[in-house]
Amino acid sequence: MREICEHEKCTGCHACVSVCPKQCIHMEENQEGFLYPVIDESKCIDCGLCKRTCMVSGKAKKEYEKKAFAMMNNDEEERRNSSSGGVFVLLAKWILSEKGAVYGAAFNDSFEIEHIRVDNIADIKKLQTSKYVQSRIGDCFKLAKNDLDNGKKVLFTGTPCQIAGLRGYLKKDYDNLYCQDIMCHGVPSPKLWRKYLKEIQVGNLSEISFRDKSVSWWQFCMKIKGDKRKIKDIFYDNTYMKVFLSDIALRQSCTSCNYKELNYFSDITLADFWGLDKSYPELDDSTGVSLVLVNTQKGESLIKQISEKTRITQVEVARAVEGNRPAITNTPAHKNRGKFFENIDNMTVNQLKKRYVEGNLFQKVMKKLHIS
Ligand SMILES: Cc1cc2nc3c(=O)[nH]c(=O)nc-3n(C[C@H](O)[C@H](O)[C@H](O)COP(=O)(O)OP(=O)(O)OC[C@H]3O[C@@H](n4cnc5c(N)ncnc54)[C@H](O)[C@@H]3O)c2cc1C
Repeated sequence: MREICEHEKCTGCHACVSVCPKQCIHMEENQEGFLYPVIDESKCIDCGLCKRTCMVSGKAKKEYEKKAFAMMNNDEEERRNSSSGGVFVLLAKWILSEKGAVYGAAFNDSFEIEHIRVDNIADIKKLQTSKYVQSRIGDCFKLAKNDLDNGKKVLFTGTPCQIAGLRGYLKKDYDNLYCQDIMCHGVPSPKLWRKYLKEIQVGNLSEISFRDKSVSWWQFCMKIKGDKRKIKDIFYDNTYMKVFLSDIALRQSCTSCNYKELNYFSDITLADFWGLDKSYPELDDSTGVSLVLVNTQKGESLIKQISEKTRITQVEVARAVEGNRPAITNTPAHKNRGKFFENIDNMTVNQLKKRYVEGNLFQKVMKKLHIS
């Protein structure tokens, strides 16, 4: 079957699907649970637009000397309801105050993750906090283009590969477009997430938070509420989070991600300011601090719009990313990744974790003895 880009590099960003003039490309989930484009050869006119749009190897322009800030939203409730320092919600509110539209990742009714468009304050909370699953873009690139062409301000948010995909699809810069990505070490499989939700048997789901801060920002919890029972685990005790953070269940392209060494197509990149306790201990209050990388002049003007609602300190870029390696280097492929996904349909998530993440007793002893 014809490929738009090398299969291992495809990020599933939907740019090719969105741009196809014959609507002959659609996304299909592979056995691992990630979406990949499939071409209907009977309708394809071989125009090559999908290949020319693909951004898997794109390099962002370097016209601006990046700046870095430690930022905290002054509204404590908004900060507590965000993963890091609550900067996203301020950006989103500013765009809405300008009668614009915001795009980002939200839970749908089945608690799967997909991108949506929001144009009112009440719905902003749907986009707040990190959801550690690859989000489906769907029609959002097309909807955003429609908003942009109608002169609306747009804040488009997502992973660095999704923002690069949007830029590839749009082909030109728009004065009314603002892009914000998150620093990302990789996205886990939506199939794994669905499987986990089924296996925990909490009944009808009513609430999920991957980043509950009731203990602290440093020791965030995974909180899941159903009508039969609730789960509230510190992240390192939670089965799903353990699998996610081991990097075994990430999309294949994440191990050769092009958006490293600060190669961002966004105006602003948001991250947790991990390492703050060492590099800037005076700024830490355990409720969450955002590391904000400003990548363009437009990003700088956006930060100016919200800065009076924050505590903001300029920091050195190199020192700021020291504790956050995903800004610089790729996540290495986990040695058991292949076996993990071969068995995703035969074993429970807990069994997969025990076998391929934690290893057997012999491997654990060897590890403790530093022999392997
Ligand atoms: C899969 C993933 C991996 C990450 N890895 C790291 C990391 O290694 N180091 C680090 O410092 N930070 C990482 N982050 C980012 C971090 O968790 C925070 O999202 C970020 O600091 C923004 O925090 P906030 O408090 O400003 O806003 P929040 O309100 O917490 O975040 C909202 C923003 O996150 C976006 N978002 C949420 N879930 C997704 C998703 N599944 N796909 C795309 N966009 C999403 C929303 O669209 C919105 O822009 C990761 C986030 C995700 C989703």
